[in-house]
Amino acid sequence: MADWKDFCEDNKERFGQYLDALEPRTRRPSGADLQPAPVILFCPVCHSAYTSDQDLSQHLFIAHAGQHVYLRVNGAIVRDLAWTNEGIRELSLVLLGHDSASVRITASSSEANLTAKNEVSLTKHVPATMEGELRIMVKPEAGTVREFTIYCGSLPEFRCDDLDAVIVGLQDDYTRSPRLPNISEWRKAAGKVGHLGDLENRYLNGFYEYILAFGLEEDRKSAEAKGHFEEAFGRLLPFRTALAHSAQCVLGLRMNCFGVLQRSPDSSSVAAAGHFFNEPYPSQWSVPEGSKAGNPFVTYADNFMVRLVNVVVAYYAADETALWQGISALEFHSAALEKNHADKLALLKARASRNAGDTAGARKMYDLIRYHPSFGSEAEAYLNGSN
Ligand SMILES: [Zn+2]
Repeated sequence: MADWKDFCEDNKERFGQYLDALEPRTRRPSGADLQPAPVILFCPVCHSAYTSDQDLSQHLFIAHAGQHVYLRVNGAIVRDLAWTNEGIRELSLVLLGHDSASVRITASSSEANLTAKNEVSLTKHVPATMEGELRIMVKPEAGTVREFTIYCGSLPEFRCDDLDAVIVGLQDDYTRSPRLPNISEWRKAAGKVGHLGDLENRYLNGFYEYILAFGLEEDRKSAEAKGHFEEAFGRLLPFRTALAHSAQCVLGLRMNCFGVLQRSPDSSSVAAAGHFFNEPYPSQWSVPEGSKAGNPFVTYADNFMVRLVNVVVAYYAADETALWQGISALEFHSAALEKNHADKLALLKARASRNAGDTAGARKMYDLIRYHPSFGSEAEAYLNGSN
């Protein structure tokens, strides 16, 4: 199958810009034959995906009302890093669960200090013709300091090809002999590229966190690994390089944040998983000619994830033998005990049983996920409708 690796070779020029800009979220192509690009907004805390700022704001207030600080830039909620090529029309700081915070706003030629309460507009503290890097430091009365960076217009240097080559080499080392990565070795390897800027460091550190998390998981330190998987996701989410998208898809699939799977190439088996987990039954996906199993990602991915993606392809290919053999291999996999994976597996078995006309089997599986935030409504509808 034309998979992710081929896609990278064929579409190198499509990755001209390496950071997600805020603008495509609001701009729609006007031509009748153009489909609007899917708008995906990610919760800055848990990375779940939303299609409108309103839904995301509501989710933030309901799910993360405890204590959180975030920025709203030109109508978009920003976790800690953003890039706008249209200047800053709106900049607001939102404090959830904090009474007040001291704020420092630094641009290349100005600095402002103030105290903020609840939600406050910071627009007047930003130079009218802002260009370059804007930094905002927020120090709540209690709690940790949060730092935000917004790039206006120009972006700093980012040697994507050179950095990617270093990262792929380090990941390959890990694949050959899995062990906890060493940050000094990573820095030394990246030194070949030259002195790294903040953005380049963030990219490298994001991938370091990614491999570190897998290493910890390999050492059966799951709780520690979870924090590093989340850290990797947060650091890599603003990047739109092929390598970053691949890591985001692995992480999204692991953490059941399926919205991000829309960033995979259309014809790759990762896109099959995107359709499967984002769309209700019966979702459709056409298996491309010459589809072959294997690791479809261009980043390191764990064995459970690679198998899962291939089993989903077998589901769409209606290859019953490969499907049920794949499902049973996944069930016996040590990772299957993990709650997120068990839920995905239950959905897969429920739908496979349903297609095979095994109502009892489908009911049994749907029953396991009837209260799941993403799969629950499908399960509930089946349980109420079937007999
Ligand atoms: Zn959230």
